[in-house]
Amino acid sequence: VSKAAIGVDLGGTNVRLGIVSEKGAIMTSSRMLTGVGEGPDRVIRRIVTAVKSLLKKTPGREHGIHGVGIGVPGIISLPDGIVRFSPNLPGWTDIQLRDSMEKMLGLPVVVENDANAYALGEHRFGAGKGAGSLVCVTLGTGVGGGIIIDGSLVRGSDGMAGEVGHMTVRPNGIQCNCGNRGCVERYSSATAIVERTLSAIGRGSKSSLAHKYTKNPGLLTARDVYEAAMAGDALSTRIYRDAGRCLGIMAADLINLLNPDRIVVGGGMAGAWELISVPMRTEVKKRAFDIPAARCGIVPGLLGDDAGVLGAAGLVFYRRVGKKGD
Ligand SMILES: [Zn+2]
Repeated sequence: VSKAAIGVDLGGTNVRLGIVSEKGAIMTSSRMLTGVGEGPDRVIRRIVTAVKSLLKKTPGREHGIHGVGIGVPGIISLPDGIVRFSPNLPGWTDIQLRDSMEKMLGLPVVVENDANAYALGEHRFGAGKGAGSLVCVTLGTGVGGGIIIDGSLVRGSDGMAGEVGHMTVRPNGIQCNCGNRGCVERYSSATAIVERTLSAIGRGSKSSLAHKYTKNPGLLTARDVYEAAMAGDALSTRIYRDAGRCLGIMAADLINLLNPDRIVVGGGMAGAWELISVPMRTEVKKRAFDIPAARCGIVPGLLGDDAGVLGAAGLVFYRRVGKKGD
C-alpha cells in the first residue's frame, strides 16, 4: 500500500479535509462549515467524525495512512500540539488539539500554523519543488508567510517566525492591527485592496467602481477591483500596482536576508499575478543585491484551492522525513 496522509485545513469559515498520497494526489476529500460558534470541543469532535467518514469512503485506506496533519490559523505550541491563540477562531486559546484528536482517532496528529503548512505544501507538491530554500507568501484576508531554509521549516523560538506580512514597507504608512504602521499587509492583502479603493473613492478619486460601491461599500471585493483594473480603470490599476510594489520591497529584504531559491506567492490574490508581478520584480531589481536577486525565482503558487489540504497532509510526510534525519 502506498503512503498517504490526511490533511485538514481548519479555517474560520470552512474545514476542508482530504486523503493525500505521498505524491500530492488528493484521493478523497470533503468539506464542512467550521461552526466556530459551537466552541472548540464540538468543532474538534466534528472534525474527527469527518476524518472517520473520509476513511470509510476509501476502503482499505486506513493501512496506508501515516497520520493526520492539521493547519490552524494561529499560534501553535509545537512540542505539545497546543493551539495557543487564533485570531480567526474565537475561543481557541490553549486548546489541546493534537492530544484530543490522537485519542479519538488512534492516529498520529501533527498541528502547525496554516501558513507554515502552506509553505511545506508548495515545497513538496507545488511551485517550490526542488528549491532548497524558499519563502511562501499568501495573499488573502491578510498576508501570511512561511520560510523553508535548506529543506527545514523556520519556526523561531515561539513558532512565530515567517510573519512576512508585518514587515514594514512604509515607515509612516497605514496603521496595522498588529500595532505597527506601514505593514505590507496594509497594502497587498485582499482586505487592503478593498479598503484602499473605498477610501480613494471616498476622497473623490474617479473610478468605474465609484457609482456602485459608494452606495454599497460592503459589497466590493478585491476581485471587483482586479476586474476593473483589467478593464482599464486607472484607480484600480494604481492600487494593484502599489500592492505589487510593496510586495517587491518586502521581497528585496527577504532576498538580501535569506538568499532563497524561490519566493512563491499564493492565496486568493495571486490570481491577479499579471498586475502584481511586474512592479514586484521591478522593485526587487532596484533594491536587492544582483546575485541573490538573479538567483531567486518569483513565482505564483500552484496548489490553488487545494493548498490548505495539501500543506496539512505535507506536515505528516515532513515529520517522517525529519525523523529519519534525511
Ligand atoms: Zn502589521
